[in-house]
Amino acid sequence: MYIGCHLTIAKGYKKAAELALEVGANVFQFFSRNPRGSSSKELDMDDIEEMKKILEENNFGPLLAHAPYIINLASHKNRIHGMAKGILKEDYERLNEISIPYFNFHPGNHVGNGSEYGVQRIIDALNEIIEGNETTMLLLETMSGKGTEIGRNFEEIKAIIDGVKYNELVGVCLDTCHIYSAGYNIVEDLDGVLEEFDDIVGLEKLKAIHLNDSMMEFDSKKDRHAKIGEGTIGLEAIKNIINHSSIKDLPFYLETPNELGGYKKEIELLRELRD
Ligand code: FE
Ligand code: FE
Ligand code: ZN
Repeated sequence: MYIGCHLTIAKGYKKAAELALEVGANVFQFFSRNPRGSSSKELDMDDIEEMKKILEENNFGPLLAHAPYIINLASHKNRIHGMAKGILKEDYERLNEISIPYFNFHPGNHVGNGSEYGVQRIIDALNEIIEGNETTMLLLETMSGKGTEIGRNFEEIKAIIDGVKYNELVGVCLDTCHIYSAGYNIVEDLDGVLEEFDDIVGLEKLKAIHLNDSMMEFDSKKDRHAKIGEGTIGLEAIKNIINHSSIKDLPFYLETPNELGGYKKEIELLRELRD
């Protein structure tokens, strides 16, 4: 089972891999740059090589980079849209350079211009960013639907994918907290939700799972992560998710409100719950 959590690369990539080992993870997620979007550090190739040695020796699964939260590809303001594009492009190039398989980002907020407009802005941006010869896959994250968030349903995700020219390089990261808040009942009808995903987007597009419990009730359109088993999704449903035949081989990344010790406990627990 590929299970890990979000970790900091503030002290380098090798250090992040060591932290992963410390918490019993065999995958992890990290921010492609500071989450508020300030400029990125230069790549230290020695540090990256040392990380890769650790990953290989310990049979790690795919690493997942997460774009900063502040970017908004869907904005009608050219300055904001352009800045988002610039950041995503720069980080995408860097992640390709160091062969990180997946790069996840929040699709964007249409800020009142409507879903269709926002979706088109995102498509336009991705068509400028992706040149077609990359190896890193961009992942659209499913969102809770708070405010004017795009990615609140599978139809919007599908519309974006369909509009991108090199869409073999676009996949999906499903966030359990977000889709439960968005109104997909993974507690009472996980089979039905995954079938719906398959019908609309196609399960072959699903590459990663953000495994989180939620502090908010079902269909609340709010985004507050809870520790595993301590939220409205609950341990029983989490157990079903990590063992479901359609998704159990995907990498799971925890984004629960935890320090390292808490992640370690959750990873242990999840390995126990795995059939
Ligand atoms: Fe996210
Ligand atoms: Fe997430
Ligand atoms: Zn979230």
